[in-house]
Order: sequence, then structure tokens, then C-alpha cells
Amino acid sequence: MASPIAQYPKTGIRVIIVGAGFGGLTAAIECTLKGHTAIIVEKTPTFEQLGDIISISTNAGRIMSRWDPALIEEKLRPVCMRHSGFKIQNKDGQQIFFQAAMPPNRERPMYNGHRADIHKVFYEYAKSLGVEFNMGQKVTGYKEDAASGKAWIETESGEIFKGDVVVGADGVRSRARKLILGYEDKPRSSGYSVWRAWFNAEENGVTTDPLTKEFVENGDTHTGWLGDDMHLLVASCKGGKEISWVCTRKDDSNLEESWSSKGKVEDVLNRIKDWDPKCRAIVSKSPSCMDWKLVCRDPLPTWVSPTGHTCLLGDAAHPFLPTSVQGCSQAIEDGSVLATCLSLSHQDSTIPASEKIPRALRAYERLRYERVKSAQKTGEDLRDKWHKCDYKTVHLNPESIRMPREDWLIKHDSERFVRRMWGSVAAELTGGPVIPRKSLAAGRESDEKFDNIELPPTPISTPKEELANPLR
Ligand SMILES: Cc1cc2nc3c(=O)[nH]c(=O)nc-3n(C[C@H](O)[C@H](O)[C@H](O)COP(=O)(O)OP(=O)(O)OC[C@H]3O[C@@H](n4cnc5c(N)ncnc54)[C@H](O)[C@@H]3O)c2cc1C
Repeated sequence: MASPIAQYPKTGIRVIIVGAGFGGLTAAIECTLKGHTAIIVEKTPTFEQLGDIISISTNAGRIMSRWDPALIEEKLRPVCMRHSGFKIQNKDGQQIFFQAAMPPNRERPMYNGHRADIHKVFYEYAKSLGVEFNMGQKVTGYKEDAASGKAWIETESGEIFKGDVVVGADGVRSRARKLILGYEDKPRSSGYSVWRAWFNAEENGVTTDPLTKEFVENGDTHTGWLGDDMHLLVASCKGGKEISWVCTRKDDSNLEESWSSKGKVEDVLNRIKDWDPKCRAIVSKSPSCMDWKLVCRDPLPTWVSPTGHTCLLGDAAHPFLPTSVQGCSQAIEDGSVLATCLSLSHQDSTIPASEKIPRALRAYERLRYERVKSAQKTGEDLRDKWHKCDYKTVHLNPESIRMPREDWLIKHDSERFVRRMWGSVAAELTGGPVIPRKSLAAGRESDEKFDNIELPPTPISTPKEELANPLR
């Protein structure tokens, strides 16, 4: 059944990764698959069941489709949503559009589910590849030395981890930013917050209430209501066994930016008192809810430190609004691009040894920066479209209210993209022609026409043809 796992040639590049979120774990997985040595340092002693719904879009699913399907696809399928589409309604419960789900695609799967369930699959896959984990170690200092070409971190307990590269994948409140920028960058309020909840449907009466059972009785569903500068999304998961909702609303208060700030269900009910009774029925069944403040940060001037041995990745480099549905996916893309840049720089005989790491990190930033900025913008655009819905226009063109799925975003193949652009980016970094923005940002052509670019085989233990049925 299992095929032997191919051994990638070791590159000798030692990558210290701070943070074991999706960005850090992907960087570790992709680095290991490409022959680098990945060491993770994470402040949490053990992962808790924090968070609720998270989405991995097809552009990130493409990267995961090259990982061992027995340890990824087979494990994720039972814990992720499977529904026929997304029903969009006004606040009174009248349907304004039904957006059919994309057909399943094994080369570009998407996954929506509880963050903790999906995160566990990533973590276990990284462990199976031999990634070294140092848990319960809070990183307090970042240092680097141009002369020796090394970077290192210090933890609260005084331990030092040294490598050729340090990756700050430490989330929205990153400490690594200070080294990179030379100053503390301050978050600002986005003016919005999200109440969120996830709970068992049966235990909380969702399955028996005539107002709510439609969300779970025939498997998973996905429904949204749009109100004045506010929206509510309800999604069920695991065949209707579990249910979650998120309610994004205007809020200028100074709540802490944290995944563990408690909210009050009564406050949500107050805000939606004149909405479709089904909204109140679902929300009232929640045992508790979280209140997540959405903060913004202006795009950082750079993600790479002065000597080029430390970089930022994921939310540490670029926090996302949830309406982009891309925060996790862009962190996953970052991890894959960084690992690929390290490989290509390592193999490029025109780059002097002392320049290989800085060149790889600068290429990583160059190939990611504009794309990420464009993807961040989609979150604001969708929020504004939903929160200031012009029903006359939507009535004439219901498609206009759909959740956008543009090719440049969701069909992107980040690894092929790096391999295709490597020559241009390497030339630009040494004074050659500047890559035009349209080759890097929104509106860029889909990657399908570059599908013939060869990728090195991924070491997997179970060939795809030996697995059970496709995703749905
Ligand atoms: C507990 C938690 C729950 C979340 N729940 C959801 C959710 O339900 N839905 C959703 O859309 N998004 C959620 N997110 C955010 C989401 O995971 C990210 O926006 C996205 O996946 C990008 O991931 P990231 O790896 O860049 O950052 P994160 O996922 O935030 O990971 C950062 C990691 O760095 C670690 N870390 C931070 N500081 C240090 C330090 N000084 N030393 C060592 N380690 C450090 C953190 O403990 C964390 O594991 C959650 C994040 C966290 C941390």
C-alpha cells in the first residue's frame, strides 16, 4: 500500500520558525519537503480548542494537494464542511442570491472547518515529517549578525535558537516586526468587530427548533444575512452535527485583539432584534460567544530585516479581514513561497554563498508583497458591498452580491509562480529590469496556462489513486 518516501537532498539550510500557526507550520512542512531543516519555537505549551471557523481556499489547497493525501486530505475530509452552496439573504430572510459551491477538485481542494481540527492535521503532518517542535517557549528577542550570516532568537527561559534564517510567524501581535522595522508599529481599529460562536447542534436544541433545524437536518449548510453595516453568517459542519456563526458589525470600542475575548450573547441578540427570527433563534442557542476586534495595520514597508536573515510571514507580515476569506490561505502561500525561494537561491550558481539567504528572502518578499496587498483589499471591498448593499442594483443583477472568486486569487499556484518568476526576480534584485506590477498583483492571469512547469515530486506515502472517493 504505502510507497517509500523519497528523500530530498539536504540543503543544509537551518530555518528557525517562531509560531506554529498555519503560516509557521506550512513553512516548516514545505522547508522539510524541500530538504531544509525546520525548527519550530511556539509559546503555547499545548494547542487548545481555541477559535472557530476558518477557511482554506483553493489557492492554498493546491499546495496541500501535494502533501501526503493519507495524512491531509483523508484526515480533513471528515471534519470539514460539505454543502451545496451559500444562500445570501437580506436581514428579513428573503433570499437575494444562491452561490453554488465550486465542484470538488482534487488538485485544488478547499477546506472550511473548525480551526483546531484543521490545525491538528497540519501539526501531525509536520510531526510525521520530523519537524522539531519546541513548545511552551515564548520568544522575547530577535538578533542577527551579517558577518557570520546567522540569525537567532532568545526565549523567555534564556534559550537561544540559531539558524541561517529566522522566520517570525508569530501572528498579529508579532514581536519580530520590531527587528525588521526598527520600531514598534501600532495597530489601529478597523472600526469593526466580530462576534463568533461554535457549538454542538443537537446538545443546544438546533435540531429540534422548527426555526433552526433546516440548518442541520440534511447535512451542512451555509447561510448569510446582510443588514445595515452588519452581516451574520451561519455555517454547519460535520454533516450538521456542529454549527457556527459569525456576526461582523461596526464597533469602535477598544477591545483587545485576541482570540479569547468573551462576548455576550445578549448583546448580539439586541443588535439583531428586528432581523429574521431564524437569526435570533440560532444565536440564542449559543452557550457563549467570542468578541474579536478587527484591527488594521498599514502595509509594512518591508518584511525582511536589514541583513536579510530574518523575515516575517503570515499575519505577522499582513493581517487580513475575515471577509477576504484569505488570511489563512495567504499565510500558507507565504510558507510555500519562502521554502521554494530558499531552494532556488541555493541551487542558483550565479549567487555568491554569502548572498544566498538574503537573496532568497528578498525574492520571497518581492513575489508575495503586491499579491498579498491585492488580496487584503478584497476583504474591505466585500465588507463594504455587503454592509452598504444597494438592493436596486442587486435586484437587477443578483450576481453582483456574490462572494468574489477571481482566478488571479483562487487559481494561483504559488510554487509554480515562484519557479516561473525566479529568473526575473533574481535579475531585478541585482539591478535588472523591474517586474511590472501587473505580473505580481490583482488581475494577474490565472496560472492554468503555466501548469506544464515541472515541479519536483513530493514525497508521499500513499499514491492518490489508492485513496477512497474524491472530496465529495
Ligand atoms: C488561538 C488562535 C485561534 C484562532 N482562531 C481563528 C478562527 O477561528 N478563525 C479564523 O479565521 N482565524 C483564527 N485565527 C487566526 C488565523 O489562524 C490566522 O489569521 C491565519 O491562519 C494566519 O496564521 P499565522 O500562522 O500567520 O498566525 P497565527 O495563527 O495567529 O499563529 C501565530 C502563532 O505564533 C505563536 N506566537 C505568538 N507570539 C509568540 C512568541 N513570542 N513566541 C513563540 N510563539 C509565539 C502563537 O501562539 C501562534 O501559535 C486564530 C489564531 C489563533 C492564534
